[in-house]
Amino acid sequence: MMSEAARALKDAGSITALTGAGISVESGIAPFRGKGGLWDEFDPEEYAHIRAFEKDPKKCWKLFKLQTEETRRAQPNPAHEALVDLEKHGLEGVITQNVDGLHQRGGSREVVELHGTLEQLECFECGHDHRTEDRLDEISEGEIPICECGGPLRPRVVLFGEQLPFAALRKAHELSQMCDAMVVVGTSAQVYPAAALPYTAKRSGSVIIEVNLQPTALTSNVTDHFLQGEAGKMMPTLSQEIG
Ligand code: NAD
Ligand code: ZN
Repeated sequence: MMSEAARALKDAGSITALTGAGISVESGIAPFRGKGGLWDEFDPEEYAHIRAFEKDPKKCWKLFKLQTEETRRAQPNPAHEALVDLEKHGLEGVITQNVDGLHQRGGSREVVELHGTLEQLECFECGHDHRTEDRLDEISEGEIPICECGGPLRPRVVLFGEQLPFAALRKAHELSQMCDAMVVVGTSAQVYPAAALPYTAKRSGSVIIEVNLQPTALTSNVTDHFLQGEAGKMMPTLSQEIG
């Protein structure tokens, strides 16, 4: 399977990647679903819904604090690095559902963040932007960081009940429609519209390569080459096989 996937990528003029929380697990960041997933501990309706933040921002910051601290400790792993390598072979962009910034820190040139980023904060009252880096003291003490206007700050991530950023979504569609091959890494493919992008790519004639510990809904529906295993092992092997 590995060599067939490598051949498909070699033959492709243009490649797009779609990544999910699974690509960052080996960097020490917990996914939402599956083994060790955050949703076992934090009910998304209570901690990551826009209405939950309206009602009780302090409660939501328990989850945001954990995510912020975990992310700041993490480093890109060999799977992130392999996606940088693939730029030599025609990778034009990485569409990610992750909010950890590890693709950018790993050196990927074109990253589309569908669900925003933990690196920026936004005032819930006035919309003013702040850098997470500047507010780490308050965050680590378990306080809600507060804007100069007095409003509570929130991470600039897409919460349940919110729309995806329009420009990112448009760019993600563009990348999915124009590629000859899409590499899908570490996503449970349960969150829409991100989970629909491999179908968009497939309809536009793309080959789909999927890397995951276990099969997903994509595997039997759209995936041409399924590489079962850890992203941090499979992705460098794939990139080396291309040459
Ligand atoms: P998910 O948590 O729903 O699914 C993770 C998937 O990765 C599962 O299919 C699992 O089998 C697979 N996986 C786990 N470890 C792996 C490994 N080492 N190698 C390969 N695959 C592995 O994640 P999702 O599909 O991205 O969807 C959910 C949401 O989670 C997104 O909205 C995203 O914003 C958010 N999230 C992001 C981060 C992050 O930024 N790192 C972390 C947790 C959740
Ligand atoms: Zn404000």
